[in-house]
Amino acid sequence: MQVRTVCNRCGKNIYLNIEPEHLNEEKGGIFRAATQHTCNGTPRILLLFIDQNLSVRGVENAPLVTSEEK
Ligand SMILES: [Zn+2]
Repeated sequence: MQVRTVCNRCGKNIYLNIEPEHLNEEKGGIFRAATQHTCNGTPRILLLFIDQNLSVRGVENAPLVTSEEK
């Protein structure tokens, strides 16, 4: 199933492909999904808070940083 949201920085439509198993990870009726998004040429992460009716309740927009495992 696809869930549409809008980037809160650039205004682009974003379509998330949600699988049924993602819904199992809910907390308090809300589950989280993250996707990478190129926002005005810069890689960013969108973290979405989605309810059981697949309505987007909130969006967080964060810079995508590199990391290391040590
Ligand atoms: Zn954007």
